[in-house]
Amino acid sequence: MTAAPSNPLALLPSVDRFLSWPATAEPLAEHGRQATTAAVRDLLASLRGRIGAGELDPSTLTETALVEHLASLLAERGASRLRSVYNLTGTVLHTNLGRATLPEEAIAALVEAARHPCALEYDLETGGRGDRDDIVEGLLRELTGAEAATVVNNNAAAVFLLLNTLASRKEVLVSRGELVEIGGAFRIPDIMSRAGAKLREVGTTNRTHPHDFEAAIGPRTALLMKVHTSNYAIHGFTKAVPEAELIALAHRHERPFVVDLGSGTLVDLARYGLPPEPTPAASLEAGADLVTFSGDKLLGGPQAGILVGRADLIRRIKKNPLKRALRVGKLTLAALEAVLRLYRDPDRLTERLTTLRLLTRSEMEIRAQAHRLLPALQHALAAWPIQVTAASALSQIGSGSLPVDRLPSHALVMTPTTKRGGGLNRLEAALRGLPTPVIGRIADGSLRLDLRCLAPEAEGHFAGQLESLGLSEPKATTASTTTPPGRGQVEPMHEPHTPDRTRSNT
Ligand SMILES: *Cc1c(COP(=O)(O)O)cnc(C)c1O
Repeated sequence: MTAAPSNPLALLPSVDRFLSWPATAEPLAEHGRQATTAAVRDLLASLRGRIGAGELDPSTLTETALVEHLASLLAERGASRLRSVYNLTGTVLHTNLGRATLPEEAIAALVEAARHPCALEYDLETGGRGDRDDIVEGLLRELTGAEAATVVNNNAAAVFLLLNTLASRKEVLVSRGELVEIGGAFRIPDIMSRAGAKLREVGTTNRTHPHDFEAAIGPRTALLMKVHTSNYAIHGFTKAVPEAELIALAHRHERPFVVDLGSGTLVDLARYGLPPEPTPAASLEAGADLVTFSGDKLLGGPQAGILVGRADLIRRIKKNPLKRALRVGKLTLAALEAVLRLYRDPDRLTERLTTLRLLTRSEMEIRAQAHRLLPALQHALAAWPIQVTAASALSQIGSGSLPVDRLPSHALVMTPTTKRGGGLNRLEAALRGLPTPVIGRIADGSLRLDLRCLAPEAEGHFAGQLESLGLSEPKATTASTTTPPGRGQVEPMHEPHTPDRTRSNT
């Protein structure tokens, strides 16, 4: 109040004075002294910066306004960062959005395992020490026909552990066309060298012949590896050596043949009218010695990497000290066991396994849903320069399944009515800013919400929260003065915005 106008910063209170205001008592009581003091410090620092830069008039910062800023900053910091969202991107198994959502059976199992002590490594018959792999090994053997199985943190870890155990300081033969890079984080050549194995590429990118492999096998060859080239397809003048021929060749030279299947599913998806994907059972049946696959892709379970195959090889892998570093926890095993149990009854799998239920939703059902929701969205966006329609769409499975295999679906489509089109990004941000953020996909000048992954039970909530869009727009009212400091713009999503043909799904 007595501050000289020549120093506008003097209008800001000290941290102690801010904390002593009666109005600050409420945030203090709710969030505690430590968090509140830190937030006050950060808030004052950020305001000082903005006043110094001439962006903010300090005379607007009344005591009430400052405490409101503090409360919203604390609320934001107190909120979970792992927010639930609506995945309406059209990619069912979206890596950036957590891939598979678990079926109720798995959720119940993991809650139970979280709440109580459990027989994780304890043999209830003998009272002796057990092996955590035993929890799922029987089911995995039953469902894949494998002699043995083990589980690690994810499929990248499974491949790493396999190579480190069986091919350290030796060579691994891989067809050049399979040197996949899946989303930048999983590159076979990098994993290979970190595992201590030497990659030997065989053939050319598009053509690999049996005699290429025959010529490459030598005393330093540890194994032959096949990588399911799941997230891209090379078309045209291509030739891959048939798996059976490669297996026969490997076995003639007494080398294991291993397959990184990526998105392994345990049932033939064709029986549900979906694009076929190879199964671990089929690879093992054909003679593969080991197969690795993910738990949270088509399998529809928790993040995990599953290794199935020959008992002697699995035994060696389990003896590797790195297995201890890559092992899974009880929550993962609880959920995985519950999901695997569902596979024992493939006839009811589409009802019970969430991933499969979403993948098999009919276009007709989704279209009906789109038309039920259309009026609510049109109403919510009435003040926006946006036209809302319902239109057919093509979903994709995601996470390494062939991007060319599309599932007919239906979407709510928002198209700007003005030429500038800038409203689209603002609309996308507004949808992202809803209490349960709605994540869509911008394509061809429209923002599209593919409804395949919107459960009918969630429709009411989804439509209800749209109402606030009518209030938040249309002008640029995302006032900078109400945005608490400390949280930058959310990174744009990778999957929904990358062009379809080059999309990568880690
Ligand atoms: C997805 C994938 C991986 C990586 O699996 P994560 O479970 O994500 O670690 C490895 N190989 C292939 C072929 C894949 O598709």
